[in-house]
Amino acid sequence: MPVTVIIGSQWGDEGKGKLVDLMSEDADVVARYQGGANAGHTICWGDGAEAKEFVLHLIPSGIFHEGTTCVIGNGVVLDPAAVLDEIEKIEALGYDVEGRLKISHNAHLIMPYHKQVEAAQEAARSEDSEDGAIGTTGRGIGPAYTDKFARRGIRVVDLLDPESLRDKLTRAIEEKNALLEGVYDVEPLDVDEIVEEYVAFDEQIDPYVTDTSQYLTRALSSGQRVLAEGAQGSLLDVDFGTYPFVTSSHPTAGGCCTGLGVPPTAVERAVGVVKAYSTRVGNGPFVTELHGEMGERLREAGGEFGATTGRPRRCGWLDLVALGYTASVNGFTEVAVTKLDVLSGFDELKVCTRYRLPSGEEVRRFPSEVETLRRAEPVYETLPGWDADITGARAAGALPTEARDYLRFVEEELDLTVGLTSVGPRRDQVLTGGTGEAAMAA
Ligand code: GDP
Repeated sequence: MPVTVIIGSQWGDEGKGKLVDLMSEDADVVARYQGGANAGHTICWGDGAEAKEFVLHLIPSGIFHEGTTCVIGNGVVLDPAAVLDEIEKIEALGYDVEGRLKISHNAHLIMPYHKQVEAAQEAARSEDSEDGAIGTTGRGIGPAYTDKFARRGIRVVDLLDPESLRDKLTRAIEEKNALLEGVYDVEPLDVDEIVEEYVAFDEQIDPYVTDTSQYLTRALSSGQRVLAEGAQGSLLDVDFGTYPFVTSSHPTAGGCCTGLGVPPTAVERAVGVVKAYSTRVGNGPFVTELHGEMGERLREAGGEFGATTGRPRRCGWLDLVALGYTASVNGFTEVAVTKLDVLSGFDELKVCTRYRLPSGEEVRRFPSEVETLRRAEPVYETLPGWDADITGARAAGALPTEARDYLRFVEEELDLTVGLTSVGPRRDQVLTGGTGEAAMAA
């Protein structure tokens, strides 16, 4: 009864969507375990005039594989309007969603007041200090998790009981209005308008709602294969990331168990998705960040602009100190390297293997404290680059020696196998079979 969990090993945007899409072919169920509707997973099919692209925000990427059931787990915070809109768009492409999507009755809801509170809080943080803002996406995700843990959240199951929803919402909005007006000097929200809007979701959402933990337990005991996908990345984990510049949930492996209700003993594989270089959105320490021309080159070559917000991502060299840390926290059983093609054309490539702390000490451990991280300097190994376009390669043997050496360096430093390497955005642009002898001969 195996669960495979796919985890972002950096700060998100590693290309998890493509990997989940590929691995969904062998899965019976694909389940999302945390986050909200901010993380855009981009799925691409076809070529030239036939090329299609779809950005998924909430529904697992398995939805594009007929025969796969998709689950939005209890660990996700759900914006009902966003999920219904996504369902409509996927159905418009000709895919059946109603019979194949299950939403946890225990998932918490994102409400309009969560977005208002988030915007007001970010504005206040920016006023306090220039880089004080966390760089949230303004979709109310953080405040929805805050309410969940403060035990005043509203859950999906509440949508199915309009009378009690009316009471809970009225109380919640009155409380938030006091905060918005009193603390942030922001216009209050219209209680009746929101109550009417949310009461109307009852019938629309009803066909999808179920006890997904029980559903997954049954699926696993009947031998089905479950693929679990996280959003964002491990370094944004609220416990293990660069706090406070983090998300409000657990993208790391443990989040899979609490966010879906599957036991840790069911998790057989933990695949770390490693982008061949580093990117980060929003504020927070980023030791290998490249400012200037080199960073710009990576950003342009990798199309590093947010799928949802269009914000330019901060770019830098691969950081094996950070990756060693996330490999250990997550217990990666293997890694998948994405966007290797983006590194084509660089004379040389740098890879960070140690941090130099202000004391002069060089360490391989990832400091947990933001101030230490801010002051840490990267110590690089320099590897030769390659010129060839590798987007047409389908096996490790077709890569230039330097590209293979780059992958091997990652494997050796992390002591993990690179199981799959992605060399372009499309489904077919992938090398399977790792970097070993068999893959070379393929
Ligand atoms: P996710 O949130 O981790 O799924 O990452 P995103 O979807 O935000 O970012 C990944 C972006 O890179 C998407 O636009 C993908 O189409 C694209 N992508 C994924 N794998 C590759 C790859 O191997 N090469 C290139 N050039 N682009 C890729």
